[in-house]
Amino acid sequence: MIANVLVNIGKRSRTVIGAALLGCCLVTPRSAVAADCPNPNALGTSRTLVVDPQEHPRIGTMQYRETLPLADHEVVLTFDDGPLPKYSNQVLAILASQCVKATFFTIGSQANANPEGVRKLIAAGHTVGTHSQHHPLNMDRMPLERARQEIDDGIVSTLAALNGDRSKLAPFFRIPGLMRAEIVENYLASQGIQTWSADFPADDWRHISSQRVYELAIQRIEAKRKGILLLHDIQPRTVAALPRILATLKERGYRIVHVVPATADRPATPTEPQQWYLHPPSETVAITLWPSIPNFVFTETRTLPAPVLAEMDWRDADLLDHAQRTRLPALRPTVWPQPRLAQLAAAPTLAQPGADVFRIPEALSLTLLAARSLRSQRIAQPAPGAAALRSQALSARQAKPPRQAAHQTPAAAHGKRRPLPLHAAEAPEAASAPVRVANVKKRTPRAVASANAKRVAD
Ligand SMILES: [Zn+2]
Repeated sequence: MIANVLVNIGKRSRTVIGAALLGCCLVTPRSAVAADCPNPNALGTSRTLVVDPQEHPRIGTMQYRETLPLADHEVVLTFDDGPLPKYSNQVLAILASQCVKATFFTIGSQANANPEGVRKLIAAGHTVGTHSQHHPLNMDRMPLERARQEIDDGIVSTLAALNGDRSKLAPFFRIPGLMRAEIVENYLASQGIQTWSADFPADDWRHISSQRVYELAIQRIEAKRKGILLLHDIQPRTVAALPRILATLKERGYRIVHVVPATADRPATPTEPQQWYLHPPSETVAITLWPSIPNFVFTETRTLPAPVLAEMDWRDADLLDHAQRTRLPALRPTVWPQPRLAQLAAAPTLAQPGADVFRIPEALSLTLLAARSLRSQRIAQPAPGAAALRSQALSARQAKPPRQAAHQTPAAAHGKRRPLPLHAAEAPEAASAPVRVANVKKRTPRAVASANAKRVAD
């Protein structure tokens, strides 16, 4: 299996180290990276994060619990759906001008059409993962065999563009349209491929302006303060928005992190489990102070005999009589000590609770009284006109000649309409049905379209 080969990424390396060590080693000094960049004012790539897909198979808080172990104000840039030379080349140029490294999720058919585009991504030092062969938007409903075909073909096509050099392709996969399905994720995980969702999109696949793409990207990054940004290198609006996004990130003190997969000679960056959560619970949250549930180890797994009825602790005389009448075998001594009835009777009683335990606070008492009063009013006063309408409907139904009521209309016979009951007493709820129908407002198609338009998010 092709995917299997991809995941030959060496040993797992879960190393637990102290916070001081993390602080000194996780963040590469920016000045050292910036020294390699011809643009002294560039945003730059602050550090490289090495991840092991087998340890963290699903990332991105838009859909999963875990995301990349980023520090505050760290952002990972990702671009989907390429390569498409017209726009992908411009994205590459913008990233190069800022000395920024990103992750690209290529589509197999695009790689077949533009193999040179895939090679350019690698030559520029970016990470390349895959995004299926044909970008189907129904992977959540697709049979596993078809999903596997899409995933594997996408890898084959992208690898072909890289002349089969597997070391250049990362075992990273993003499901098209983020239409996740557990069977797809499980398959990817079984192949050692990491499923990438994202932490914030910029909606650049929608028909919105580049200004809006810029605003959404910055707003959403600022809301979470760190994470994976989802963009598309095949959209002109993304090309137009990208320079401003990068400039604003630099201005506001954000840093770009480049992500690469672990390999045999490149171990994963040491991390603590809580770093893989966007907002790990802090020590001020009570649950973190609770002792964790112990793991019980059973020294013996002997199966206990199934209980028989005679060993039950009957306390009900009737049940016991019944059991005796059904000629159960004689009572056998039980394995467990049984309490005597006398002991139960002598058990200490609990203290009587004080009356103030049941006292209802004054404010709540008023609310309850008001609610009760309102309910009584509703019961006492039925809706005006309802009784009259109900009686009209009843008399109209009773006035129908028996022949009409006894035979169904052709529509009712075909299940399109329920036949009316002969008498209201046969179906009491039917008497009020005309009242309910009369109250339903029928929406015109224009009103429905208008209501739907209002619901659509930007
Ligand atoms: Zn896509």
